[in-house]
Amino acid sequence: MKAASLLLFVTFIFSGFALSQQTQSQSPSNRPHFDGQTWWNRVKFLADDKLEGRATGSPGEHAAQQYAIQQLKSAGVEPAGLKGFYQPVKFVSRKIVESGSSLTLINRGKREPLVLGNDAIISARIMPAPHVEAGLVFVGYGLKIPEANYDDFAGLEVTGKLVVVISGSPAGVSGAVASHYQTLAERWKTLKSVGAIGMITIMNPALVEVPWARIALNRAEPSMDLDYPEFAETEGDQLGAYVNPDKAEKLFEGSGHTFAEISALAKEHKPLPRFPLATSLEAKTKVDINKVESANLVGKLPGNDPALKNEYVVLSAHLDHIGVGAPVNGDPIYNGAMDNGSGSALLMDMAASLRKDSANLRRSVLFVLVTGEEKGLLGSKYFAAHPTVPIKSMIADINVDMYLPIIPLKVFTVYGLAESDLGDRVKEAAQSIGVPIQADPEPQRNIFIRSDQYNFIVRGIPALMIDVGAAPGSAEAAALREWRHTRYHAPSDDVSQPVNLDTEASYEEMVRALVIDVANDNHRPEWKADSFFKQYAK
Ligand SMILES: [Zn+2]
Repeated sequence: MKAASLLLFVTFIFSGFALSQQTQSQSPSNRPHFDGQTWWNRVKFLADDKLEGRATGSPGEHAAQQYAIQQLKSAGVEPAGLKGFYQPVKFVSRKIVESGSSLTLINRGKREPLVLGNDAIISARIMPAPHVEAGLVFVGYGLKIPEANYDDFAGLEVTGKLVVVISGSPAGVSGAVASHYQTLAERWKTLKSVGAIGMITIMNPALVEVPWARIALNRAEPSMDLDYPEFAETEGDQLGAYVNPDKAEKLFEGSGHTFAEISALAKEHKPLPRFPLATSLEAKTKVDINKVESANLVGKLPGNDPALKNEYVVLSAHLDHIGVGAPVNGDPIYNGAMDNGSGSALLMDMAASLRKDSANLRRSVLFVLVTGEEKGLLGSKYFAAHPTVPIKSMIADINVDMYLPIIPLKVFTVYGLAESDLGDRVKEAAQSIGVPIQADPEPQRNIFIRSDQYNFIVRGIPALMIDVGAAPGSAEAAALREWRHTRYHAPSDDVSQPVNLDTEASYEEMVRALVIDVANDNHRPEWKADSFFKQYAK
């Protein structure tokens, strides 16, 4: 293992050097610290086929970790984990054994099996019961949001039932709040409170990012959970399943409603009818269980202010990706160049750049490269619950994950913009390089809860994630959508794809300005008084 990764590293230096001779560009004055090429060379290492897609707990992920530690060390970052840079994390891995599993619809005595993969997928994110048979109730978006006085379960009897929902949320509920209530843990809290025993999600066709065919192709990928009793958040949940929207009509037979009607309403975020279905469902599930170990990496660049150096600005990114899976066009390696080789490489670049000015940093910067993000933000969940520095000393989290520097830079999209005064800071940092910002133009995509910043947020720490953005309806927006459709969580998110190194350099310059500003300001960032997430800052 060790010898192999050393060999990889030597190869990397050589190829990186050769490449930089051909493509190195001049850095304009508004981004003097970055050239894009250094970053791309790091991405090329992380997304090399030899790292096999960096699946959580895999040798490829471990090689990526060794590389990251080496890069951080050489940038002057000090270890701040439990074993050097490492903070070990234990997982339980679950895989549905389809030969021993089935889903069958029952309608007035008629039994119709659902074809696993084609019609539906059983989720292993929760530990399913071996056998469930229950009536189905369609509950719209399946949300209960006290803050918005919204309740999809009002007036419905769902005790002992499996609820059927369409993904998405109603108009009039803030994207951040709706996202929060769609996390696995919050969903189960709601279902449990109304007596339901599981949930079947029909993917909202208007929100589909990864086509069903690709989701189905990779359904054999194991799911994971943190292997500690304190993180058991779905106990009692007996079934989670996803239904292909193209095949959803059969669930509604005899109900007096159609899925076509429901998806048309959901597309516009309109109120949905809620009603018992005429069908019930029998589920048999066999699960293969394994133990997996990996680690988060934690390092610090110390600040120089005698008092403030004990406070940390966290810069986080996930180093894991989804590994080797079903081949697409003959390629089985899901390299994860943008997801999240990009953010991981940025942390290494930022460490090297900040070191040159570390004497000017008042607070310390904590570099956190987490594992298990693709399995459900698990590494960051563990870190936020068991941080290797005092929880109160982490004043902000700036998370970088798949920000897509693949288009000309015209705007930054900021997730969590209105939630804390970090939003004001990022506006200034972006202005310093002459780029405007915008709030999330597509809040229904739940980006705010789909990366690691979320676990800092629910521990009370103001956080942000920032993407290279695009104005709605623009050519750049179309390019980003196309990327998500074809390359997101596909083997083609690799180093043969085009990237825009000018955009990358500007993105890094903005992050650098933001980190320095937050590290040096007299005041800690604060939640806005009207932020829903302020409640977590105790
Ligand atoms: Zn991902």
